[in-house]
Amino acid sequence: MARLHEYQGKTLLKQHGVTIPAGTVIRKPEEASDALETLGGRVVLKVQAWITGRKALGGVQFAETAEEAESAASVMLGMQFGHFPVQEVLVEECVPIAHELFVSLTIDDAARAPMLLLDCHGGSGIEDRAADVARLAISVTDGIHPQAVRRVLLDSPIPEEHHPAVVDAIEKIIATARTVEARSLEVNPLVILEDGRVVAADCRITIDDYAVFRHPELGIEIARELDHPATMLEQIAYRVEQQDHRGTFYFAQLPIEGHESGRGLIGFHGAGGGGSMMSMDAVSNEGFTLANFCDTSGNPSAAKVYRAARIILEQKGLKGYFGSGSGVASQEQFHSAYGLAKAFNEMKMTLPVVIRLGGNAEDRAVDILEDACRDLPATVEGYRKDDTPAFCADRFATLVDEKAGPGTSDALGRSVPGWVGGAAEAFPIEGGHVWINTSECDADLTAKMAEWSGGLLEDDGNGVPTLAVTPEEAAKADSEFIACEIECLRAGRPVLFVDLPIAGIDTVAEGSC
Ligand code: GDP
Ligand code: MN
Repeated sequence: MARLHEYQGKTLLKQHGVTIPAGTVIRKPEEASDALETLGGRVVLKVQAWITGRKALGGVQFAETAEEAESAASVMLGMQFGHFPVQEVLVEECVPIAHELFVSLTIDDAARAPMLLLDCHGGSGIEDRAADVARLAISVTDGIHPQAVRRVLLDSPIPEEHHPAVVDAIEKIIATARTVEARSLEVNPLVILEDGRVVAADCRITIDDYAVFRHPELGIEIARELDHPATMLEQIAYRVEQQDHRGTFYFAQLPIEGHESGRGLIGFHGAGGGGSMMSMDAVSNEGFTLANFCDTSGNPSAAKVYRAARIILEQKGLKGYFGSGSGVASQEQFHSAYGLAKAFNEMKMTLPVVIRLGGNAEDRAVDILEDACRDLPATVEGYRKDDTPAFCADRFATLVDEKAGPGTSDALGRSVPGWVGGAAEAFPIEGGHVWINTSECDADLTAKMAEWSGGLLEDDGNGVPTLAVTPEEAAKADSEFIACEIECLRAGRPVLFVDLPIAGIDTVAEGSC
């Protein structure tokens, strides 16, 4: 579920004719006094963060003078929720409230209909008054029955003269939710002012993930459930997922407070929900702090797993890399092994790695991973389904302790063979290029490369590999070329390199585009 900030939600309400307080978003404390002046007099300041109950946390404050506004803004802009600092504060005219109503729209899975929750007894503490809240089903074709809303109002302390304006606002709120395909839209409180105007004083909207692509106007970076604004790496990961539909890739960074008192920060790479959870528990039980959650499953390509590993390793302060998932994956695990081996080799991995590659063809997968990483400074160990997550986590802890150096992922950097971008030959594939150092090839090796690439390459007649398929077919074969790259490496003949730069992390090798 993608969430919108309060102000963005209110702006959408306004576009649908709902009255909202005049307001402006600031990012610096010194902007507060200008905002106050423009709004004229008393203002309310509100942190724009994805948290509930801001008022109780000091995230809603009132100010009457420029000094008050600026000092409230500077406190708020210094606040931190999880590891996400408050970056925006909404400064709004403070409106004189006569009545507060709770209005919430959700898609009710049981009722299989949008549901309007309405409470007319004041805003906060709604959780404790669940029994008082009216629930009205909304017809997908005809909307709400105004009469049903009026009945609820008649049963409330709200004077009847205000009822038409409240019904009108609720109809507009429903129209807003419908237009943006909201999964939920809450206005808490919808307020009736002393002069009778009905105003949305707060707004939280979540958009259905599957509808996000229809709403570029909302500017949602990541159509997935996150409890914080997307980090740079999460945005990069999301783009990778959007551009490659082979299997699924999910990456989210986790709160890391207090990791200094534990055994260290680590990168986590799961495969398959339940097994990943078990594995996260196992490695947390060893005292490690997970910098991230990551899942590559559903038969991901080697290229996708490679990119996932690269993104994980881009995080700072990691002491190791722990991968473990379902353990009984039906996907061919060697695709993942190739992708991981490529990432670790490119990064000249120095941190301990334990990967549980349980599942189909696991022996071959473990063999590929360990053999391809044998010359790296790091110890890289692969395990199988019969090795429990707890066992693997324990082994990982031993390796991290043995290493016991000050080194972390901060010191890692990507290295690309010197001949890439130079005299070697290249052809484009989706998302990058394949480079072949033809001057180091011979007929024997070329014959093997034809096999390792699954027939994508053949001997050009002079003992040098050339494409055996059309450029279009080759372009889709990034994972097969990764397999070929790793097999060349294992054979001690690293003559092929798949350059798959990740936008936002790498620059493209010179001359390769
Ligand atoms: P939340 O605590 O995160 O839900 O933040 P809200 O924006 O809903 O504000 C919390 C409460 O502050 C509301 O229920 C109101 O009682 C009060 N409040 C917010 N804006 C105003 C305003 O403009 N005028 C007045 N008088 N009270 C306000
Ligand atoms: Mn609220």
